[in-house]
Amino acid sequence: MGVYRAEYIWIDGTQPTQKLRSKTKIVPKGDKPPIWGFDGSSTQQATGDRSDCVLQPVSTCPDPIRGGDDLLVLCEVMLVSGQPHPSNMRRSNADMAGRFASFDTWFGIEQEYTLFRGMRPLGFPDSGFPAPQGGYYCGVGADEVFGREVVEAHLDACLKAELRISGINAEVMPGQWEFQVGPLNAPQIGDQLWLARWLLYRVGEPFGISATLYPKPVRGDWNGAGAHTNFSTNEMRRDYDACIAAAEALATRHDLHIANYGFGIEERLTGLHETCSYKEYRYGVSDRGASVRIPWQVAKDKQGYIEDRRPNANHREAIIGHETAGRPCREATERETKKGRGLGPLRSVREAAVAAERETVLTSWRAAVRARRLYGNR
Ligand code: ADP
Ligand code: MN
Ligand code: MN
Ligand code: MN
Repeated sequence: MGVYRAEYIWIDGTQPTQKLRSKTKIVPKGDKPPIWGFDGSSTQQATGDRSDCVLQPVSTCPDPIRGGDDLLVLCEVMLVSGQPHPSNMRRSNADMAGRFASFDTWFGIEQEYTLFRGMRPLGFPDSGFPAPQGGYYCGVGADEVFGREVVEAHLDACLKAELRISGINAEVMPGQWEFQVGPLNAPQIGDQLWLARWLLYRVGEPFGISATLYPKPVRGDWNGAGAHTNFSTNEMRRDYDACIAAAEALATRHDLHIANYGFGIEERLTGLHETCSYKEYRYGVSDRGASVRIPWQVAKDKQGYIEDRRPNANHREAIIGHETAGRPCREATERETKKGRGLGPLRSVREAAVAAERETVLTSWRAAVRARRLYGNR
């Protein structure tokens, strides 16, 4: 009887930014990857006396590194009781996506990252700094781009893994790059993003190059790394007013979103380097200095999507804000359509958004209480 290798991949409990772990299981050919377990006391997910955590496979793809019948297996982390582990955000995201399925929400995430060799980003000399930013973005030539061999190998791996990658580009800071995943529904967008991140780290290994999602790898006049999150509902894809309503709805709980968009966000959202300060929220057409940009094509076509520029490269829960924005848009539209005068005053959008967010806060709060019970005050 033949076997295949299944690489089980999961998100651990490291704070303030969760990271990826993986290990290999040999599975008989023809069998699906079964439930498995791991030592949670080594991943900040359990104490030593009750260390067992459960891996529940949720998404698989061909393993482009090993090839053949081998698989990558993304897992949710569960408690032995069968409940989702407090570090498992996917489950609540998937539930939320299910509740909002009628929106047919699409997400397209632009994942920026920085390649390092040892302690330095690629392209940074041993002492001092490279030439100031300007020529690196989408550059070409050995003096302008650094690490293309890793980036190309990663793209190749993602395509072999059948992930929905929509493009790659060199970024503004040397050694900084971006890949885009989507558009996809939730939770598929998150699953593919995490699988693509895992492949990025894995592909870099033989090159001796590591990728980081840290949002501001070099202080000073160097761009940070974000994860612009492009977002649309079926309504937004045919109606410009719905796009504006979504941009308005995201304003209502800006602070909550900032808190959920990745550790170190204040370092990155300074108001410089194509960002809007984390202290304010604004949106605009073509505006790369706004929190949310409406692409010019969308303004021209009067339909499409909006780009939330706030999430950090190391974000975990960017999707939550958007799911909650989707509902208020629709509620407002339905209410106003009933009244027979199209999309009405934005105040009703705001009110609905606040109600939706309250639910999110409650969910996060419950998770926090459970986490404290497990880990004490750490
Ligand atoms: P930018 O000009 O901001 O660099 P990119 O081309 O890097 O834009 O990324 C745009 C992203 O938007 C892509 O991931 C793409 O899949 C996504 N996208 C395109 N149309 C939609 C849509 N209707 N809804 C959600 N995402 C979309
Ligand atoms: Mn981009
Ligand atoms: Mn970018
Ligand atoms: Mn962008």
